[in-house]
Amino acid sequence: MTVDLRSDTVTKPTQGMLEAMWSAKVGDDVFGEDESVNALEEKAAAMFGMEAAIFCPSGTMTNQIAIKCFTQPLDELIADQTAHVYRYEGGGIAFNSAVSTRLLNGYRGILTAEMIEPEINAENIHYPHTSLVVLENTVNKGGGSCYTLQQIAPIAELCKKYNLKLHLDGARIFNALAYTGDSAKDYGKYFDGISVCLSKGLGAPVGSVFLADKDTIKYARRLRKVFGGGMRQAGFLAAAASYALDRHVDRLKIDHAHAHTLADALANCGCVTNVVPVETNIVLFDTEQPAEQMLAKLESKGIKANSTDKHRIRFVTHLDIHPEQIEHVVKVLGEM
Ligand SMILES: *Cc1c(COP(=O)(O)O)cnc(C)c1O
Repeated sequence: MTVDLRSDTVTKPTQGMLEAMWSAKVGDDVFGEDESVNALEEKAAAMFGMEAAIFCPSGTMTNQIAIKCFTQPLDELIADQTAHVYRYEGGGIAFNSAVSTRLLNGYRGILTAEMIEPEINAENIHYPHTSLVVLENTVNKGGGSCYTLQQIAPIAELCKKYNLKLHLDGARIFNALAYTGDSAKDYGKYFDGISVCLSKGLGAPVGSVFLADKDTIKYARRLRKVFGGGMRQAGFLAAAASYALDRHVDRLKIDHAHAHTLADALANCGCVTNVVPVETNIVLFDTEQPAEQMLAKLESKGIKANSTDKHRIRFVTHLDIHPEQIEHVVKVLGEM
């Protein structure tokens, strides 16, 4: 048996999803003529109470387009030091937007208005102009930790007060919603922009959407073209994404239950020294021996995972992890 816990990006399209792709109505999306892309964009925007949306090849592209839309060269953005936009997008903030980044130390990547306010630069020619705050929900490197809307509201209020834009890297926003019980529609009230990945927990093969107001999305279409992300008959991919939004949101709580089962087994495993409390579909844990040694033992039993540090391993549950695979991992951990 193989159990691939490396990432929730490894899922393959289901039979139903492939059928939806097969029968998709398509056109040239660069001309705005792909019905399936247009339908996906409308559906996603409406779900989050936003005016408009644009379908892009990756979450990195939606985040980088958002940062470019919400800043000018020489500006500064504020984010947590674990932020994907800073750590895992290849330095794109500086390269694409010529913007500097002010990094804060949140708890598991979660920031508060009190942490952000003193870091906003006063108007002074020596300082870069602070113009954007980026939050991540769930926080990938925080181990799937979540903001509630109640935590976000004071940050949104602070951004209004200082005239800052607020962007959400919502690669796993549906995991956060499953955990907090907050409603997607309410998100539109707080954020100027939202990125949503369709190829993580939702299980679509490719794509992310960027949501914002109509004028921002109009400019985002120009930026997507410049970034080389204008796709032609992208409706085949959009159909898979729409299918995922209709069918794969409610089931995320299964992935979360699986993550909890794994965390319990890890807590009882002699070679594990610490398990970060699970909120969603990511389990981070620390190993007594070097992580590489434990990964090799797991691999020999068909279990694939990644290390995130010398003594830290990450498990991620997803659509293609079934109960019998979780049982197998629990059994293997019990024997270690
Ligand atoms: C995966 C991810 C993204 C986008 O990644 P792509 O691989 O470019 O789609 C953005 N933010 C977070 C937090 C992620 O986990």
